[in-house]
Amino acid sequence: MLTALAGGVGAAKLLVGLAEVVDPTEITAVINTGDDLVLHGLTICPDIDSVTYALAGLDNKETGWGVTGETWTVAENLRALGGISWFQLGDRDLATHLYRTQRLGEGATLTDVTTELAVARGVRTRLLPMSEDPVRTRVTLARPAEGASAEVAFQDYFVRLSHDVEVASLRFDGAEGSSPAPGVLEAIEQADLIVCCPSNPIVSIGPILSIPGIASALEARREAVVAVSPIIAGSALRGPADRLLAELGHESSALGVGRLYAPWVGTFLVDEADEALAPKIEALGMRCLVVPTVMSDAATRAALAKAVVSAC
Ligand code: GDP
Ligand code: CA
Repeated sequence: MLTALAGGVGAAKLLVGLAEVVDPTEITAVINTGDDLVLHGLTICPDIDSVTYALAGLDNKETGWGVTGETWTVAENLRALGGISWFQLGDRDLATHLYRTQRLGEGATLTDVTTELAVARGVRTRLLPMSEDPVRTRVTLARPAEGASAEVAFQDYFVRLSHDVEVASLRFDGAEGSSPAPGVLEAIEQADLIVCCPSNPIVSIGPILSIPGIASALEARREAVVAVSPIIAGSALRGPADRLLAELGHESSALGVGRLYAPWVGTFLVDEADEALAPKIEALGMRCLVVPTVMSDAATRAALAKAVVSAC
């Protein structure tokens, strides 16, 4: 059994590779829900949806987010009405949020709904939200617009402000008093291998670790935990991971991520571009393997997945 910790798109790519080299029914992905939002009355779980769409082969390869073959009739009409349009919801994607919101309203749990949506899309990997409790990433901006609140919701920072603003701090609202979703701790305790996917360490893996009980469960399994660095040659391939690391006082490098992960990761896979960092990473008490980590196509994705499953 393999358990993976997952954010959005970076994680989704590795999970697709892992599902090709391991029986997908033997994989459990524990997915960040700190990015979740309610918009137009709909509950939207961007990371769960990114992982589901990718594993279903429905991910949009051109945009790098959303659903393939998407149309925008609702979004265009909403814009014409003067509705909220900064968070783009395609027609196909909207069906997911309508389904989820209806089922949650009927009293279904987020775990149930996540399973239902995955099964309906033909996904055989087991997908779990990190928690069924609302835990929301809140971002404090270093230079808020005049008269505006310094603290904003994650998607305000990430999408509305295009993460092109300096961050002073962030917190995971609701984490204290929350619990891991049913099955999460068991999936960590019982896995033969635990994989920390290449996701944003601060805003994708950070929220998962903030749920009481998860970090200590991982520390207890440290020797079985393998992580892939989401930072290559000092930079993120996409998104604000590199900026966030630096703004929050960490080094924006595989070594900086290694320092954050050392308490609970036994083996760290870094890119060939970061070979020179390997001795310093090993000095943190982790095994460091140097492999190609950029998943640009099916072959590189499968090769990285193979390296991960044979890492420890
Ligand atoms: P988001 O939720 O969609 O923002 O994405 P994630 O939380 O999954 O994190 C994005 C991170 O994944 C960035 O730091 C990227 O550098 C990293 N990433 C994306 N694709 C790859 C890849 O092919 N290889 C590696 N090593 N990292 C990747
Ligand atoms: Ca995300």
